Amino acid sequence: MAKIAFIGLGNMGGGMAANLVKAGHDVAAFDLSEAALERARGNGCSIVADAGDAVKGADAVVTMLPAGKHVAAVYEASVIPNASKDAILLDCSTIDVATARAVEGKAAEAGLDMVDAPVSGGIAAADAGTLTFMVGGTADAFAKAQPILDKMGKAVIHAGDAGAGQAAKICNNMLLGATMVATCETFALARELGLDLQTFYDISSKASGQSWSMTSYCPVPGVGPETPADRNYEGGFAAALMLKDLKLAMDAAKTAGAYTPMGGEAEELYQRFVDRGGAGKDFSAIIKMIDDSWEAPDEG
Ligand code: NAD
Repeated sequence: MAKIAFIGLGNMGGGMAANLVKAGHDVAAFDLSEAALERARGNGCSIVADAGDAVKGADAVVTMLPAGKHVAAVYEASVIPNASKDAILLDCSTIDVATARAVEGKAAEAGLDMVDAPVSGGIAAADAGTLTFMVGGTADAFAKAQPILDKMGKAVIHAGDAGAGQAAKICNNMLLGATMVATCETFALARELGLDLQTFYDISSKASGQSWSMTSYCPVPGVGPETPADRNYEGGFAAALMLKDLKLAMDAAKTAGAYTPMGGEAEELYQRFVDRGGAGKDFSAIIKMIDDSWEAPDEG
């Protein structure tokens, strides 16, 4: 049984921490939100007064925070000054590659092993312990992190050195955003051309146009397997989070000097959808903006 500090117990971190408790670990939890802490207490975590207290004496420190600025601040103020020299530090948040590399550099200067380990899979996978982790860091750090990540996921893959996990995550999600937009406009065109959409799905899902966005996450209600489209686009992966990941991908492309026109187009379309009230809807709901049937939720 390891002593684990868990910082950031929101939608994702709450379920992940609960799975570490279920695996028999002793989890000390910290979050700025009282509601998140209450839920963690209910799931068997012990609650501490600040992040530094959670980190002191821990064998592993897991962070699951909104963005790079939160991760950098928590590492600087609480994690690096308080971590034991043999602890493994795991940041599972989705953040920009540059911040991931900078924070891992500071940890290494302090003699600490760290990995970036962002996840694929949403809240349901976090609760079920079936996330996929893509991990950046040295081989030694990966070996120390793997047994902890195994308790929260179904797949743990070493992507390369520091920052490689974040790089893999944003490349994957740029592809996902672009293929979802392409799938949506394809169904809109198929409808305009008078095709029955189930028949088109049956053809294209077995032909060269098929992709995960079509066969596992079809944006058309009643077509293909059950997806958020069948629940009025509630739940699933919020359009606001897809936009966040596309912005991270575009920033990384700019820094790297890579040409990513489809990713840029997907970013612009998701920005427009979020500006028109779609932030909380599943990202496949962008089909309603593309086929012009989008009615923004009533704010009142
Ligand atoms: P969330 O906003 O629900 O949770 C973040 C938590 O961090 C909140 O409870 C917040 O109070 C806490 N927090 C913020 N600053 C803090 C600080 N300084 N100290 C302690 N706690 C602090 O977000 P989430 O949906 O759980 O996502 C977390 C990360 O996982 C994000 O980087 C997100 O992009 C990524 N992610 C989310 C999903 C998803 O479906 N929600 C899927 C894959 C990856």
